[in-house]
Amino acid sequence: MRRLKNIWVFADKASSLAELCAGGRQLGENVAAVVLGGEETARQAIEQGADQVYWLGLKAEDKMLEDYTRTIAGLLEKHRPELFLLNAGRRTKVVAGRLAALFATSAITDAMQFVIGENGDLQIARLVYGGLAIRLEKPLSAMAIATVGNGVFKAAADGSNRQGTVTEVPWVEDGCRLKLLERRARDTEPVDLAAAARVVGVGRGIGKEEGLAMVYALARQLKAEVACTRPLAEGEKWMSPERYIGVSGTMIKPDMYLALGISGQIQHMTGVNKARVIIAVNKDINAPIFEQSDYGLVGDLYKIIPALLKSRL
Ligand SMILES: Cc1cc2nc3c(=O)[nH]c(=O)nc-3n(C[C@H](O)[C@H](O)[C@H](O)COP(=O)(O)OP(=O)(O)OC[C@H]3O[C@@H](n4cnc5c(N)ncnc54)[C@H](O)[C@@H]3O)c2cc1C
Repeated sequence: MRRLKNIWVFADKASSLAELCAGGRQLGENVAAVVLGGEETARQAIEQGADQVYWLGLKAEDKMLEDYTRTIAGLLEKHRPELFLLNAGRRTKVVAGRLAALFATSAITDAMQFVIGENGDLQIARLVYGGLAIRLEKPLSAMAIATVGNGVFKAAADGSNRQGTVTEVPWVEDGCRLKLLERRARDTEPVDLAAAARVVGVGRGIGKEEGLAMVYALARQLKAEVACTRPLAEGEKWMSPERYIGVSGTMIKPDMYLALGISGQIQHMTGVNKARVIIAVNKDINAPIFEQSDYGLVGDLYKIIPALLKSRL
């Protein structure tokens, strides 16, 4: 595959930065990372694949991620990479949007694949129509800005002997009209589903929030992470949004995905179709998920989960 000359990356999570640095290496000859974090993170970005690091220092307590947009824009203006990749987080998408506005270009969100033509022109694939189709989009300008979901690229294994440069970059007054007034801790625990080897996913079939206790117990027994469908996170709010899988959530590629009470709609299955083995439990023998599973158990999950727990897998 042809490669671009210059790719820049930025992420607000260490695991995403590692994936984007590795992705940048696949797609480009030179990779520069903009790092907001400790000195150690800047050094790690080189091990993960960056040739140059532009280090913004630790994120200031009184600033939001968006407040770094002009600082990043100054760097992009000077170096003009062909592609600037950000992880597809809530705040990084805002940064991507603001940058796109500043450079009068498009921000292509949730990119899945990058296609570089013979003459070096770039097209970016992303899902449309709720996951029913893939569309190839052409960036509007010579510098493309795209956000990439977890798991699209795989972090590099070991780059401890890589060399690169670290340049400190001072913060530039931003003029962002949103102001940070107060911070409150969120009632969620961090989870990295994209990196999990085993995932137990639960859907509306669970019926009531109390049912989740046995799902967590089963996941503990299987040494698996717990995930869910979007209605459980966005509708019922029984789980944090970080835990839902699918076209608008996280994409996973575990060795095993156990789906409990999930019908198997395309928007969910798009996020799990890279799993090595899919096992489904559903009381409806005609549930679409059985067509996409390697193993299926037809039955009530309130009977099957306790039986699995008893069997001490
Ligand atoms: C633009 C758009 C984006 C979307 N993005 C996402 C996304 O990223 N991720 C996502 O998950 N969804 C997404 N959705 C929603 C998606 O279309 C489905 O509505 C959703 O995935 C269905 O969730 P579910 O399988 O939990 O619920 P349901 O479809 O209601 O299925 C519940 C299943 O549980 C089974 N069941 C019921 N009781 C039991 C029991 N006691 N034992 C065993 N089985 C039982 C039923 O037979 C049924 O098959 C999106 C939708 C749109 C329009």
